[in-house]
Order: sequence, then C-alpha cells, then structure tokens
Amino acid sequence: MASRKISSLLSRSLSSYLCSSAGRSSSVRRGLKRFSTAAAIDEPITPSVEVNYTKLLINGQFVDAASGKTFHTVDPRTGNVIADVAEGDFEDVNRAVSAARKAFDEGPWPKMTAYERSRVLLRSADLIDKHNDTIAALETWDNGKPYEQSAKIEVPMLARLMRYYAGWADKIHGLTVPADGPYHVQTLHEPIGVAGQIIPWNFPLLMFAWKVGPALACGNTVVIKTAEQTPLSALYVANLFHEAGLPPGVLNVISGFGPTAGAALCSHMDVDKLAFTGSTSTGKLVLELAAKSNLKPVTLELGGKSPFIICEDADVDHAVETAHFALFFNQGQCCCAGSRTYVHEQIYDEFVAKAKARAEKRTVGDPFKQGIEQGPQIDPEQFNKILSYIKSGVESGATLETGGDKLGSKGYYVKPTVFSNVKDDMLIAQDEIFGPVQTILKYKTIHEVIHRANASSYGLAAGVFTQNLDTANTLSRALRAGTIWINCYDVFDAAIPFGGYKMSGIGREKGIYSLKNYLQVKAVVTALKNPAWL
Ligand code: ADP
Repeated sequence: MASRKISSLLSRSLSSYLCSSAGRSSSVRRGLKRFSTAAAIDEPITPSVEVNYTKLLINGQFVDAASGKTFHTVDPRTGNVIADVAEGDFEDVNRAVSAARKAFDEGPWPKMTAYERSRVLLRSADLIDKHNDTIAALETWDNGKPYEQSAKIEVPMLARLMRYYAGWADKIHGLTVPADGPYHVQTLHEPIGVAGQIIPWNFPLLMFAWKVGPALACGNTVVIKTAEQTPLSALYVANLFHEAGLPPGVLNVISGFGPTAGAALCSHMDVDKLAFTGSTSTGKLVLELAAKSNLKPVTLELGGKSPFIICEDADVDHAVETAHFALFFNQGQCCCAGSRTYVHEQIYDEFVAKAKARAEKRTVGDPFKQGIEQGPQIDPEQFNKILSYIKSGVESGATLETGGDKLGSKGYYVKPTVFSNVKDDMLIAQDEIFGPVQTILKYKTIHEVIHRANASSYGLAAGVFTQNLDTANTLSRALRAGTIWINCYDVFDAAIPFGGYKMSGIGREKGIYSLKNYLQVKAVVTALKNPAWL
C-alpha cells in the first residue's frame, strides 16, 4: 500500500511532506476527522502484523539471553504487553562482542571487496522496501508514532540511507601526502573494528540506519543495543540484512536495558568504537565508561532545546505551520525539536492566536488510524514528566493557550499544548520536555534574540524564518548549533550531517562526515631508494 507512494514522497523532504498544503494539512482541511472523543483512543485498532523476532541476534542466530530472562515491550496506546523479549545482559554482550570480533578479525566482511559490501547493503535496502508495511507496523506498534509516518517516511528513509551508504562503500580511500624528504607517503583508511552502538526509542529505525549504515559501509562489525522501549523493528530489519547476504557476526542486535547491557557494551575492552544517541546525562556516563575501559573513541548525539526564530518579515502562516511541525512532529519526541519559539513582538499576537488554532486542529488518536498526526507518548515515565512540565509552566506564570492535560483514559496521550508569554528563565524554556508542548517567547531585536537563543547549554539545531537574506545569513553564522534550518525545519537527508555543539554532543552522523567515525587513518611512509632519479 505505502510502497507505491514512496518514490514521490521521498522526492520531497520530510518536512515539506508534513508541512505543505499538499500534505497533511490539506487532508485535514478536506475533512479527515480530527480527534474529538476519547472513545477513538480507547478502542485501539489491532495491527495486522505478527511479532516473529523477540530473541537476541548474535552471530547470525536468534538466541535466548544467557540468563533466560525476558522483559515486556509495551503498546503505548494501551499499556498492554505486545511481546516478551529476551533481556540481554553482560554475558550476552560478551557473546555478541566475541562474534563481532571474530567476524572482524577473521573476515570475510572487512576483507571482501568494497563493491561486494555495497551490494549486500543494496540488497538489504531492496528487502526493506519489500517488507515496508510490516516494518512500519512493528515500529508504530512499539513506539506509538503514526503508521503513515512510519510507512511513508521512516521505513523509506531507512532504505534510502542504506543505499546512500552502499554508494560510499567503494569510494573510501586515503591520500598521497607530499612529505618533505625522500619518502613516498600515503594514508590508508581502514575500518576501526568492532563498533558498539546504543540507540534511543524515538526513531528506532532511523537511529539504527544512521549508525549501522556507515559502520558496515566502512567494513566494521557491529553490536547494537536497542532501547528497551522499542526492541522490535531492529530485530526484524537485521534479519533482512542476513537474508541479503550479510555474514554471521557482522551485525549483532542486543535488546535490553541501559545500566546492564548498555553499560557492558560501553566498558567492553574488545569494542573499538562507541556511538550513542540519547540523553545528555546518559551520554556523560557512556563517555566515562569508554574512558575508564580502553579509551575507545565516542560519538554522542544528545539532547537539545532548539530555538526557532521568527522574524517580523516572515510569512506568518508558513511560519506557524513550520513551527508547529518543528515542535509537535513525532509527539514532540525529537532531540532537535524547535522547542523555544521566539517570535518578533510585531507579529507575536497574530502568531500566538494562529499557533493555538493550529494545535487545536491537530489530529490526535490511534496511530494506526489514517490521517492521525499524533499518537501516544512512549511510556508512563515520559508521559508523567511532560504533564509535570506543563504544571510547572502554569505555576511559573506562562499563559496556557490550549491543551495542558492528558487525553483519553488509556495509554499515554497528551493534548497538544501551547504556552505563550514564556520567559527564558522558566523551566519549560530551559529543559528538554520531549513532548507536545510549544513554548512561545517574545523578542524585540535580532541582537537580543541571538544572545537569548545561544544562552543554552545545548546546541543541536536552530530554525530561522525570514525573507531577508542578510538576516538569514547573519543568524546562521551567529547561532551556535549543528544545524540551522532557514524557512524550513527537520529537513533530513542521508547526505546532510547532523550533530551538536556544546552539550548536544560530539561528532556528526549522516553524510560524508559520518564515515570518519568508523575509520582509522594509517600513514604509510616508504623511503625512496634512489631519490636522485626524481
Ligand atoms: P531516554 O531518557 O530518552 O530513554 P537514555 O539516554 O536513558 O534516554 O536512553 C538512550 C539509550 O541509552 C537507551 O538504549 C538506553 O537503554 C541506553 N542507556 C541508558 N542508560 C545507560 C547506561 N548507563 N549505559 C549505557 N546505555 C544506557
């Protein structure tokens, strides 16, 4: 069903699909029913997919945890158990790392031609396309994100990323270096070894792709630990990689918890590189464990509190829609969410009224239902955290324009919430809420807003809405963040690097920049016997 539309959707950006009048907004206008009663939420649609893979994937085999333990993975729409999943721990991480070590040291993966590696990734992408709807259903069931988003955007992007990295595999090479003296000097770009990867629950498939894609393209082997909330889709997809010809031991998937399986991976002496996406506090722990063990290099993609600056000359309707998308996309569970909306005083009142109206039109409900923009939050912990931030916003004096409460009696749904008159020192303007809560702040001058936007310990992304080229160029230089979106937001592409300044992380993923995370550079210096001949 979804696959037919994939190519046309991919030719547009994720944000343009979701924001444009040709995309969701016009469907809503054309009369797709928006959420109106809690009953629509309380009667969940049964997904038409079976959960076939719940064990750990080690050395190409699905196996039980050494302890025999399992844990529940839960449907965020209801809190009901979807499946019991093998719970990986220290011993399982050991088994997975030894399999990855053997597959790296003895091959064939790092030793086969880069073209052969590229073909395995291409075949995996074809299988991902073929299984698009099954993967999407697992992702939505486990995570709660709208099925249309999973099926039309995220699974196709997973396949696109694999094709992008397949394209890199046979284009990775070193340089010839003009050194002083009678030497022939070259660099070899070699795979780094066993990559340990830890991913979060908000984009389980895309985080899998951002990490596994470059690691495999460069010839490494991988042990990836998925988030305990969302173990299902990665197991299914990793199995497809094996069907595509990936040798056993090259890609191992461990389901389990952070302080046990995650920490074991970070501390393992046979892991050569770590890549982590998650909260800033856990990122610090990961870095510490890496330093205390074998000083493995670490890339970190962490939290954010990204400013979205709307200048007085902006097209207000377009800015409202984009700022709405920048915050509410994926239930507000994005590390780069535009979570501080700074609006110029001249258009502030108009913007707030329109942002409130847009939030009230947001379609919230069962993510398997067509036309739904917002499903439930991931789990009770996040749900309660969001509600307590909303309470704090009200208590600190911000104006609650709309929302502010849970929705329905089952699951973890939160009403789209908008606060105006937010001040920089309020908790809701400082902390990462990770939920559907928009905070709108007022500013007067560009100079002032640059200062306020940068006054954060985070620096993941920023958005700017203006029709003035000079303002756009000046702000894009002044803002201290890894991505600046001008007159758009959340435009992700396999080739665009992503990562943070300050406490939002270390290193970049995607694009050419991601390859160096997974490569060692070796300098080879050969003395020339007869320099006089030159
Ligand atoms: P969140 O708060 O969004 O769940 P976390 O940073 O806690 O973010 O989790 C992101 C990933 O990090 C998950 O896979 C989780 O299991 C893992 N994790 C959590 N704690 C640790 C830890 N102490 N060591 C390694 N990984 C961890």
